[in-house]
Amino acid sequence: MSSEAIADPMIDRSATLLVDPAVCRRLTARVVSSRSAPNLTTNSPLTGGAIGDLPASTIDDVDRAFATARAAQPRWAATSIADRTAILLRLHDIMLDRQRELLDLCQIETGKTRMHAFEELGSVAVVARYYARTATAHLRPQRRRGVYPVLTQVTEYHHPVGVVGIVSPWNYPLAMAFEDALPALAAGNSVVLRPDPQGTLTALALAECLDDAGLPEGVLQVVAGGAEIGAAVLDRGDVVGFTGSTATGRKVAESVAGRLVGYSLELGGKNTLYVADDADLDKAVPGAVRAVFASAGQTCIAIERIAVHTAVAQEFTARFVAAVKEMRVSVDLAFGPDMGSLVSQRQLDTFREHLSDAQAKGATVLAGGRELPEIGPFCVEPTVLADVTPDMICYGHETFGPLVSLHVVPSDEGAIAFANDTDYGLNASVWTRDTRRGKDIATRIQTGTVNVNEGYASAHGSIDAPMGGMKASGVGRRHGQQGIHKYTESQTVAVQHLVSYGPVFGMSQERFAATFTGGMRALKKARLK
Ligand code: NAD
Repeated sequence: MSSEAIADPMIDRSATLLVDPAVCRRLTARVVSSRSAPNLTTNSPLTGGAIGDLPASTIDDVDRAFATARAAQPRWAATSIADRTAILLRLHDIMLDRQRELLDLCQIETGKTRMHAFEELGSVAVVARYYARTATAHLRPQRRRGVYPVLTQVTEYHHPVGVVGIVSPWNYPLAMAFEDALPALAAGNSVVLRPDPQGTLTALALAECLDDAGLPEGVLQVVAGGAEIGAAVLDRGDVVGFTGSTATGRKVAESVAGRLVGYSLELGGKNTLYVADDADLDKAVPGAVRAVFASAGQTCIAIERIAVHTAVAQEFTARFVAAVKEMRVSVDLAFGPDMGSLVSQRQLDTFREHLSDAQAKGATVLAGGRELPEIGPFCVEPTVLADVTPDMICYGHETFGPLVSLHVVPSDEGAIAFANDTDYGLNASVWTRDTRRGKDIATRIQTGTVNVNEGYASAHGSIDAPMGGMKASGVGRRHGQQGIHKYTESQTVAVQHLVSYGPVFGMSQERFAATFTGGMRALKKARLK
């Protein structure tokens, strides 16, 4: 990376810490931590240098955070939905106004390009606006059909659960933390959030925006630390939301099972993009590039396998590989580059392992494959493989990096079978000019979202629809009605009028059963039930 690459007041490359200590102190003041001195330092993938000092929380601090959140929750729940959602609408504007600092921090902590950081920020703003506009409808008491028409009046209520515990990973420090936290807050819960250490400053900057939007003190608590602090949050939440790997998700499910609390798990993926024989390659080629290399492939819904129909395999491959070779990798804090850095040595090690294993077993590198230490310590070229076989790690395991394999398939059936040949079930993409065919293929792929003629953004950006994983990719959904209802307890209140559910006026049980049977037949016939 050239020394001019980062020319921004947010970071001083000559200083020991990349983020101005005053900014760091301002943001970390919000962390619930009893430690007298900061003791958690993270390094930026942009330079490898230390970002700033964070005060890590202790287990006692997590207890304090929950106590504060619990004390604040009843008053927050008693605040009208209109007042709660007005805060989300103000957040929408504040975060757009403060995007420069949010994007700088997001890039410094994750190494992604400014464009990818902006996509994330935009996504959270849309989620804030969506729940601001719809929470009243989602939470409104709903009339349900009663056991006796007219005589049984049933209402379903959605109550806040209490304190929601959220643990979010490093790859999307804004989206993965707040696309759960915002609906949880809108529903009247308080929240204890543990962002990954590699995204804590970014998450704190957004928490500050929420404070300035008018969120009452105590309602959102942020604790800082690694897996141990994450586990402590999930051990205490009245309902919990976890985003991370499938391996950790299984542990989380086991640990919450004993407490019988609700949970949602947003986990890994091995997502396939299919290019059908009638696909518009002018759109499919750039679409596939975006879908594979967003945030350097460290996107749970990013594409890691491309299935291309025999009829267009040659042309698609040539054009896709040429486009990938044109991509510009950079760690600039400016719009322009196509791909940024991997986040850490751990991600670089996984990329190396998957690539070298594939090469050793006979895969062909069509593009990329080299590391780029001259740009950044964890930067690599966007990489395309052919001849990948099921015995290679990258065939079925998530790489979570800029590594994609091309597979030629003879038919739609072949593409569907290939897309489903994985334990995961998060996202898929189908490119075809025939919308009906696209939908037909989509509904036979076992993933929580399928995008037709887009990689992942159409489904992810359509906040009114649920988003999440089938199979080993998760439990539960975020976004849409499910994304807010999972942070509520639903309660059914049934009011009975005139007759009760049982024999009346000395009626025998036989008579009651006969009358009831006749009633059921009549209701069915009248289509009332
Ligand atoms: P990881 O599971 O190793 O860690 C994720 C987070 O969980 C980290 O912040 C870690 O500190 C914390 N953690 C680890 N053990 C924990 C425990 N026992 N209790 C509580 N918290 C714990 O995952 P990772 O590799 O760092 O993150 C990338 C993974 O996340 C990928 O598999 C990716 O697909 C997945 N992901 C999924 C989604 C989604 O929406 N489905 C979104 C983003 C990332």
